[in-house]
Amino acid sequence: MEALTSFLALPVVAPVWEFVRYGLTGWSAGAIVVFTLIATHLTIIGVTVYLHRCQAHRALELHPLVSHPLRLWLWMSTGMVTREWAAVHRKHHAKCETEEDPHSPQTRGIGKVLWEGAELYRDAIKDAELVERYGHGAPDDWIERHVYTRHSALGVSLMLMIDVLLFGVVGAAVWAVQMAWIPFLAAGVINGIGHFWGYRNFKSPDTSRNIFPWGILIGGEELHNNHHTFATSPKLSSKWYEFDIGWMYIRLLSMVGLAKPRALPAEMVLDPARNEIDADTVEAVISHKYELMALLSKSFKTHVRRAQFQPAAVEKWTELRKEFEAMWSRRHLSVEQAVSNLQSWCNRAEASGIAALADFSKRLRMVSPRRAVA
Ligand SMILES: [Zn+2]
Ligand SMILES: [Zn+2]
Repeated sequence: MEALTSFLALPVVAPVWEFVRYGLTGWSAGAIVVFTLIATHLTIIGVTVYLHRCQAHRALELHPLVSHPLRLWLWMSTGMVTREWAAVHRKHHAKCETEEDPHSPQTRGIGKVLWEGAELYRDAIKDAELVERYGHGAPDDWIERHVYTRHSALGVSLMLMIDVLLFGVVGAAVWAVQMAWIPFLAAGVINGIGHFWGYRNFKSPDTSRNIFPWGILIGGEELHNNHHTFATSPKLSSKWYEFDIGWMYIRLLSMVGLAKPRALPAEMVLDPARNEIDADTVEAVISHKYELMALLSKSFKTHVRRAQFQPAAVEKWTELRKEFEAMWSRRHLSVEQAVSNLQSWCNRAEASGIAALADFSKRLRMVSPRRAVA
């Protein structure tokens, strides 16, 4: 031990040993933890704002001053190729919860998606046809072809070197955390838990759920049920108590002209002066169908529990609820047919003798379309 100490104290060895232990910065453990948190947050923002909202869903446009640094950072901290990421994700939306969904916990099991999400992703990108079919519109410039795509693994090696240079041997641990962040939080938690556990604001046809109302740790992606309901919305929060940090950054960027978000989905507005079912009602109901289905289901559950209805009334409720849901899954329905179906449904709901159902129907007659302000 003494020999080792005196060896490390040698004038030539000492600075090298010092460098191996502390790197160029010599930062304390606390400062390195803060660095790691900022670095991983930046990666999450790159994934949610650039890869997910901008590239996969075209929910916003980003100025090159923002998109280029994010592309460089993602190359260095994830090694993921934009075209492949966008393609796998678009297929997830297109084939949600079926055997063709690249990572549905409903078909593959929650354990598999949560712990081996990155493997599922790697399997999916091996499918050249999938990438070709769903990967349209991804960047195809010189740097993409010659650097990011051709040398997709080089960036993460570069990151390892930078971390070790900055923090010495601890840098390798910082790098390992950075590398594990997206495979676990995005491929595992969002794709797994986000389709398995949490609350639902909307009765979308998939099993998507909002994991937590404050989307900070995963950049707003926690609000996965909202996202599946309004897939092209740049904003993932929906209720007043929900927070989407990704949207906060988009707003800040758009204030200085560096981002151009799409219009937000129209807000559901009830106008007490309205009392008829017309084409406007149908249009507004269609854009809020998942919200209305969720309201109807919730009201059903509450009333059945509280009012202890007779079996006949429960049956009537169930029938009308299912019919309401089925009404909006029919394709190729003319506006006139939709208006007439909805009118007939409301008349029957109001004549059912179930107060809550009649109430819901009266609210439907008040629904009017109005656009939310971004
Ligand atoms: Zn999903
Ligand atoms: Zn999506």
